[in-house]
Amino acid sequence: MDKILVTRASMPPMEEYIEEIKDIWDSHWLTNMGCKHEELTSQLKEYLKVDYISLFSNGHMALELGLQALNLSGGEVITTPFTFASTTHAIVRNKLKPVFCDIREDDYTLDANKIEELVTDRTVAILPVHVYGNICQVEEIDRIAKKYGLKVVYDAAHAFGETYKGRGVGTLGDVSMFSFHATKVYNTIEGGGICYSDEDYGKKLFRLKNFGIRDEESVDGVGANAKMNEFSAAMGICNLRHVNEEIDHRKKVVERYRHNLSGVEGIRLNVIQSEVVSNYAYFPVFIDEQKFGATRNEVSEYLKRRNIFPRKYFYPLTNTFECYNGKFDVNTTPVALRVSKRILTLPLYADLDLNMVDQICDIITHIRKGEHNL
Ligand SMILES: *Cc1c(COP(=O)(O)O)cnc(C)c1O
Repeated sequence: MDKILVTRASMPPMEEYIEEIKDIWDSHWLTNMGCKHEELTSQLKEYLKVDYISLFSNGHMALELGLQALNLSGGEVITTPFTFASTTHAIVRNKLKPVFCDIREDDYTLDANKIEELVTDRTVAILPVHVYGNICQVEEIDRIAKKYGLKVVYDAAHAFGETYKGRGVGTLGDVSMFSFHATKVYNTIEGGGICYSDEDYGKKLFRLKNFGIRDEESVDGVGANAKMNEFSAAMGICNLRHVNEEIDHRKKVVERYRHNLSGVEGIRLNVIQSEVVSNYAYFPVFIDEQKFGATRNEVSEYLKRRNIFPRKYFYPLTNTFECYNGKFDVNTTPVALRVSKRILTLPLYADLDLNMVDQICDIITHIRKGEHNL
């Protein structure tokens, strides 16, 4: 049996991509805001229902420079440890201090009820994550941000194309970051974007991704280089044509998983948020070892031996990373710690065969019944 990995990159038909990149051969324009870049920018703006989007070489640079463009020098940023390394690193690489807030037991997003007690006179921003595409408590976060004059930056890496109460999720907060990495619902091979509504902010952001160059003869910022190239943009144009169909396929996979696994004792499925049009980005299961009779790690190892490779997204928590040298106390985020030890993300991608979903679920339910030697 071939390996079944947690995800598999979406790709357009090869002929379609070749057709798209012919223009690049004609123009010899490979990067620096070429035609494909501009075309994708306007298509994504429309698809995501946002005022503006600036494209980047990857999601991380979008987040890091997106944060930098807010000029938040030297303050504290309230954030979640239950996320990918990128979120916390973006804060620390901006010489800001992450202050970790715990998450909610049900949807794994930042617990808005615990934010205010962490606000100090040094707090400058809140950086929540729409983890697994579960949308944060945005109204409550907004209220707190207004009360204390804080910026809100959403890591929306998992939330591509979702809407909340009919609004594009990229319009939530001051700015939102999407990742277009190969492993995400929508990809430009590598890539990312920052959505915003303030034009001045957009100008700052643009200079940061292009060496701080104002014009041919003046450089007025110490910028980086994080531009999206034309081949990535062309991939993005092709993938965007198919993304709705891909999301429909993902939905079928998720429905099959839910059908098979709902009611299995000791397994808790992801929440369904009524106000959200989901993109079906991930299928996390929470395994309560007391009721299930096996630990998350045992289930993970057992599946791997059967050539099925789920992932422990997100374990370990970012506030336990070696690179932070014990600076943070993981006991301040007990719910996140509990969840990170029990969560397992099962394989999910558009063309995952439904029979394979059944097999994966069979293995899991048999472990539950003790019919497998772990
Ligand atoms: C993927 C991801 C990122 C980083 O995006 P890249 O495009 O891989 O740089 C940031 N945050 C979260 C939560 C992610 O899953």
